[in-house]
Amino acid sequence: MAENGRIEMLPRVVGIARHRLVTDGEGVSTLVVLHGCPLRCRYCLNPHTLAEPERWRRWRCEDLYEEVKKDELYFLATGGGVTFGGGEPALHPGFIEHFRACCGKEWLLTLETSLQAPLESVARLEAVVDRFIVDIKDMNPEIYRRYTGGDNAIVAENLHFLLERGRGKDVLVRLPLIPGYNTEDDRRESRWQLEAMGFEHFDLFTYKTETR
Ligand code: SF4
Repeated sequence: MAENGRIEMLPRVVGIARHRLVTDGEGVSTLVVLHGCPLRCRYCLNPHTLAEPERWRRWRCEDLYEEVKKDELYFLATGGGVTFGGGEPALHPGFIEHFRACCGKEWLLTLETSLQAPLESVARLEAVVDRFIVDIKDMNPEIYRRYTGGDNAIVAENLHFLLERGRGKDVLVRLPLIPGYNTEDDRRESRWQLEAMGFEHFDLFTYKTETR
C-alpha cells in the first residue's frame, strides 16, 4: 500500500531526449518530458502530455538519475544538465527536489514552464533549479484566457516571486506571436510590462498553427 502510494507520487515521464544543444538551456542537455498540464493551449506543442499517453513510465528519481547520468561528461564539459519540461513540470516539485539531491550541485537544472502552478511549488523549485524558461503566452489576461483556458494571475504572482528572490537574471521569457490570438502590438505590450517588472532575457518566436 505504501509502495503504491509512493509510486502514485512519481510523475509520468513521456519522453527523454538526449544531446540537445542550447535549445533547452545552456550547454548540452537532456530533456525529461513530464505528463500533465492544467492549460489547454490551442496550438499545444506537446499534446501527448495532455491526453492519455500511449507510452509513458513512472521513474524513481534514482533510476532516472542513473539513466541520464550517461551524458554527465557532456553536461560537465559544456555547463549543461537536465531540463524538465512537459506538460507542466512545476507541478512536481517533490520529484525535482529529489532529483537535485541525487545529481548534486554541478548539473545545470532548467525548468521549462508556463508557471501555471501554486506559489508554494514554485518556491520549492526556486531553491533547486538554476534556470527557468517561461512560456508566458501573453500578459493580457483576456488573450491568455482565450488561448489557454486559464487565468494568468497565478503566473504574474510567480513571476513577482522569482524577482523578489533575485532570480530575474535566471529567467528566459518566451514571448510567442500566436496567430489568431495576439498581435505584434500585444506582444510588444507584454514585453514592456515584463521589462518594467525587471526581466531582461526574451525569446521571441511564432507558434506554428499546423502543429495542431
Ligand atoms: S502549457 Fe504547454 S503543454 Fe500545457 S497546454 Fe500549453 S503548450 Fe501544451
